[in-house]
Amino acid sequence: PAKFPMAMTPNDPGWNDLAGIKDGPRMNATFVTLARNSDVWEIAKSIRQVEDRFNRRYGYDWVFLNDQPFDDTFKKVTTSLVSGKTHYGLIPEEHWSFPEWIDTDKAAKVREDMKQRQIIYGDSISYRHMCRFESGFFFRQALMMNYDYYWRVEPSIELYCDVHYDPFRYMHENNKKYSFVLSLLEYMETIPTLWDSVKKFMKNHPEHIAAGNSLGFLSDDGGETYNRCHFWSNFEVGSLNWLRSDQYIDYFNSLDQDGGFFYERWGDAPVHSIAAALMLKKEELHFFNDIAYYHVPFTHCPTGEKTREALKCHCNPKENFDWKGYSCTSKFFDVNNMEKPKGWEEES
Ligand code: GDP
Ligand code: MN
Repeated sequence: PAKFPMAMTPNDPGWNDLAGIKDGPRMNATFVTLARNSDVWEIAKSIRQVEDRFNRRYGYDWVFLNDQPFDDTFKKVTTSLVSGKTHYGLIPEEHWSFPEWIDTDKAAKVREDMKQRQIIYGDSISYRHMCRFESGFFFRQALMMNYDYYWRVEPSIELYCDVHYDPFRYMHENNKKYSFVLSLLEYMETIPTLWDSVKKFMKNHPEHIAAGNSLGFLSDDGGETYNRCHFWSNFEVGSLNWLRSDQYIDYFNSLDQDGGFFYERWGDAPVHSIAAALMLKKEELHFFNDIAYYHVPFTHCPTGEKTREALKCHCNPKENFDWKGYSCTSKFFDVNNMEKPKGWEEES
């Protein structure tokens, strides 16, 4: 057993005094947030929640990234709230602009068409830059290069339960590379040719596809079509070294060349999820049942009354999305032959 065991349940030594935190191993990890200056008060709320429920006892760093320089208010407010060190990065233009192989007239026509069809963010240029940046560039910004693990936080999120152990350490000690709390179905209108692009990549790079992967989470017909299941990437705890690996970079470059970030409206959630499901082994993915989370409009409230009480949760279990029809979490459990948390049937 580790010298400083993680207290995962109230029966484990150290649960109440949170032993092992001060003297236990610390990971080389950071929170990371992409935000505009105008997001300051909404990110302030998110930081307060993350600090109260977890980071005030750990003091992990926080990296903020922006395509515009952060202003003094943003820096002052966020630095005062974060218990660890804060760092502010300006995104280089080549990570937030149209690559030279993109036909910008064609992209403009697509935006006009998607606007007519009222597809969410369909007419937005900045949203597309954001999705491409989160898909291919956040993990290789200069400020991120010194870290091994990240936890992504967006403005206006909530954490409803205490986090008693270090999720970064959990990832490290259990050889996990990617994790999620909410999963759901993507709007097909935003990704009509994404799966064709993925299939092309799989054909060109069979060496990058993992044996024992989670293809069954993505496809119900052995890989012929995409079933739209993805992990919701506004929450992620993951390995930066995996995102910086040849396999992930080859995958991102291949998709980026195909142009769907601009000719369609590919989101970073399906892009990350497909990569994780195809290029990682099943066991390298993790569902954090005990991290309770809200991002409009969905809630992950931990299944199991005992867990919720032990973690001092304040979410309404009736709002838990996990076992509802539009969620893919049930499929994730089935594909992995995992036992669903006790009480899931009553809470579905
Ligand atoms: P949604 O969750 O898909 O509705 O998208 P959000 O509006 O929450 O954007 C996702 C993340 O990207 C959030 O952390 C935003 O603060 C950030 N973001 C979105 N657009 C921009 C932008 O134009 N510039 C910057 N710097 N951040 C952005
Ligand atoms: Mn958001």
